[in-house]
Formats: sequence, structure tokens, C-alpha cells
Amino acid sequence: MKILVANRGEIAIRLIRAIQELGYEAVAVYETPDEMSRHIRIADEAILLGDGPRCDYLNIEKMIRAAKKSDACAIHPGYGFLAENPFFAKACVAAGIVFIGPTTEVIANLGNKVIARKIMAEAGIPMVPGTQNLKQGKEGIADALAFAAEYGYPIMLKATSGGGGRGIRRIETDAQMREQIPVARAEALAAFNDDSVYLEKVIINPKHVEVQILADSQGKTVHLGTRDCSIQRRNQKLIEIAPSMIKNQPLLDEICQTAVRAAKAANYLNAGTVEFLIDQEYKYYFMEINTRVQVEHTVTEMITGIDIVRNQINIAFGKPLSFSQEDVQIRGHAIEVRINAEDPKNDFMPEGGKKVSVYRSTGGFGVRLDGFVYQGYIIPEVYDSLLVKLTVHGFTWEETVGRLRRCLKNFAIRGPKTTIPFYENIAREKDFVNGDFDTSYIETHPHIFFYDDDSSEVGKLAGLIAEIHYAKENPFAG
Ligand code: ADP
Ligand code: ADP
Ligand code: MG
Repeated sequence: MKILVANRGEIAIRLIRAIQELGYEAVAVYETPDEMSRHIRIADEAILLGDGPRCDYLNIEKMIRAAKKSDACAIHPGYGFLAENPFFAKACVAAGIVFIGPTTEVIANLGNKVIARKIMAEAGIPMVPGTQNLKQGKEGIADALAFAAEYGYPIMLKATSGGGGRGIRRIETDAQMREQIPVARAEALAAFNDDSVYLEKVIINPKHVEVQILADSQGKTVHLGTRDCSIQRRNQKLIEIAPSMIKNQPLLDEICQTAVRAAKAANYLNAGTVEFLIDQEYKYYFMEINTRVQVEHTVTEMITGIDIVRNQINIAFGKPLSFSQEDVQIRGHAIEVRINAEDPKNDFMPEGGKKVSVYRSTGGFGVRLDGFVYQGYIIPEVYDSLLVKLTVHGFTWEETVGRLRRCLKNFAIRGPKTTIPFYENIAREKDFVNGDFDTSYIETHPHIFFYDDDSSEVGKLAGLIAEIHYAKENPFAG
């Protein structure tokens, strides 16, 4: 039996591994700029979709055709691209192919933040005060100003169909509100093909805590505990931790129960994440449900020992979950860092187009790597900048942070600048080490941007020596 992986990069490799471990064959797809990607090589079969860039990974028809051609009976969409596109899920079902994810209806409802909020409000789930979709033109602006007058600035202006941290604006004044609504609409239309926007009250310096859910088609819904994703830049996650470091177990238990209730209210099926914000008084508010496997699912797998992707596939084939809530035991702590080809000192400017001249990764007890690049790999400019995810697991928090520090120090990537030295600073920083952070962490700790980034002559020379030394390594090893 074959399963097609409708994605690229590290997540494609993650999915292929789970498919092969289950005894199925994995079919990879790719666009021409991705020819060097390792996911093509580890799959049992690979199909070129076209020249892309990006448009073929987003082409529903081509994806279905590739599945038919390879005789795949199911498709796993991963995250990003077509993962949260209800038309894709529908097209799979229409073609007699199993879509590994929730139903079309669930994806459509929860992908729309206003509809999702309505479902959750009806189920009595606590949430941030907010509006419906703003009406077009002057009427919408008048309603927005009235909402701001009631709750006070700052106010969040959000794209109803937004995702990936995009389409979110913090508004401070009436003048800004008038000016930004049309701008936000135009941007949302271009990015998400939907110009709807709405408002939420801003929670000041919240913690982002989310709950991993698995729901099978027999009606069993379990949670796999919490993750903290507060360390963000521009509403995008950089470091994720499991479980949440909040020292109030009854509160965390309640949030997990609420997440299960939220999933049930949405008729949820397969893996999903219920995201919450927690304010400084430790009140929690529903934010959204992501209807896919998330980048940071690895930290939950490490602390529970449960393979989320394997369960996704089994659930999609109609199998019942093989464990119940009581079987889910949280052990220790896990931290994931997203190692990106970006220059943190230059506003995280992507380093695409560069060749990875040295790639020396790390290993050891409690260390997990999810990546797809290797020495000699040229980073395509047209995709996102995630190179590899480093996840460490430890029995205590202290041990886990120590392991993270050691791994980052051993990890050498040369060619592109990466976020590694930036994370090394965080891993030594006092508040992080104490487990004390919220979404303001990056901007309130500017000293984490100060490090030596090997752009000195000595650093370059060291890189050159390392390059010669490691050049003979098998590029596909590790
Ligand atoms: P996305 O769909 O892009 O992931 P979310 O609604 O999940 O968007 O929000 C992403 C991030 O934006 C949150 O983790 C948080 O940091 C910030 N954010 C969103 N809504 C609010 C809010 N009402 N108050 C404060 N921060 C918010
Ligand atoms: P997580 O899975 O941890 O929440 P992100 O929110 O960063 O991760 O999103 C995962 C990937 O999906 C990223 O590559 C992001 O750009 C992409 N993504 C998420 N939502 C959307 C969306 N609505 N449209 C396009 N891309 C999205
Ligand atoms: Mg989110």
C-alpha cells in the first residue's frame, strides 16, 4: 500500500519515516527547485510535479494526478501548503483517496477564525472578547471604533482566514484603525484569498499555551498535554517547550480538559492543536484550532512517547486509538528549536541561495533531529528557511536546558547564517533558564542578539578548514 506525501522539507521526511515504519510505501512529490532535497531520496518513489516554485505544491489537480499515477491510496498533507485547504480534502475524497486529516467541514469551519469562535462560544469555551467579521466600508470602521472605545487600545486586527502568524496587526489609535482596516483587507485577500477581518481585545504579554489532541473515528478524543510556544517573533514561533512551565497543575489540567471539550464541540477528527493565550492573572482564552500536524509536534512526542504521525495515519484508515487518556503519561521536558537559514542580527533576513558548505550535526541521549539538508546542499530561495529542528528531551528541566546548550555548541552549519548562535544565547539567558517567558521575550531581551557570528577572518578560516575536513563525508549520512 502506498501513501503520497504532499509536502517538502523536514516534514516530508518526518511523514515518510512514519509511513515506512508502518510497512507502507511512501511516494514523494517535488518541484524542480527542490531537486536536491533529501525527501526525494528516502521515499520509495518520487514524482516531479513541475517547475513550481510553490505553485505545484499548491496545485490540487496535480497532486491528485500524482496520487493516481503512483496508485497511492492516501495522502498526508503535512503542514502549510494544502494542509488546511478544505477543497483539497474534498478533492481527495472525491477521487477515492484517503485524506489524512480532519473532515472537509471541520477544516473549513476551523480555518475561519470567526466561525471557530462562534462554535467555541456556543460550547461555553472561554475566549478573548472579539467582533464578528467587520462589515465593508464605513460601517465596518464605525463598528471597529465602537469596539475599541469599549475595550480600549491596543486592539488586535486579524485576518479571519489568516495563519502562520501572518495577517495579525496591533492597533494603537483610532487613526491607525481607520488607516489599517483597508490595508489589512487587501493583504488578507492577497495572502488568504479572503478579505474578511475582525477584532480581538489584546492580551498584554500573554503566554501561548496549546494542547495536542488526537480524535479517532470511533468518537474517542484524548489530549497529549500542553506545549508552550511563547518564544515568538512577529507572532511566529521560534522555540517550543513541552509541557508548559506554568507551576499550576490544576490550571494546566483544566486547559487540557477544555481543549478536549473544544475538539468535541467542533466534531474533531484526527490530530489537531487547540491554542490558548494565558494572561498575567493566569486566566486562559481560546485562540484557534490548527487542523494539521504542527511543526512543534516533536516536543509532545518526546514527553509522551506517542508517535503523532503514526496515529494520524491509523486514524485516517479508521482504526481506533490503541490507548486511552489514562495511558498518556508525561515524562520530563522537551525543547525544540527551529534552526533556520536566517540572520537574526539582520531582522532574520532569509539566507536562501547559499550553499551549505559544512553540515556537522549532533546526537546523543535524548536528542532528536528532523531535517533534510546536508553538506553541499544549496538552499532554494523560494521556500521557507527552516533547515532542521533540534529537539532535546531530559528528565528535569535543568538537564534538558544543559542538553540543548551542548547540542547547539556541537552543531556546525556553515555557508548560510543560521539561528544557532542566537539560540545559544537564549539557552544561557537567566529568564529562559528559569522557565520564565511570555510572548514579549524576544523584544524584552535584546542582549540575546549579541554574539560572535564567525564573520571575522578567523571565523571564515575556521569554516574553510572545517569544509575541507568534512568534504569527504557522505552527504546523505546522518
Ligand atoms: P495564526 O493563525 O497566525 O497562528 P493566532 O491567532 O494563533 O494566529 O495568533 C498567533 C500569535 O499572535 C499568538 O501566539 C499570539 O502571540 C499573538 N496573538 C494573537 N491574538 C492575540 C490577542 N488577542 N492578544 C495578544 N496576542 C495575540
Ligand atoms: P505551527 O505548525 O507550529 O503552528 P506555523 O504556524 O509556523 O507552525 O505554520 C506552519 C507552516 O504552515 C509554516 O510554514 C507557515 O508558513 C504555514 N502556514 C500556516 N498557516 C498558513 C496559512 N493559512 N496559509 C499559508 N501558510 C500557512
Ligand atoms: Mg496560531
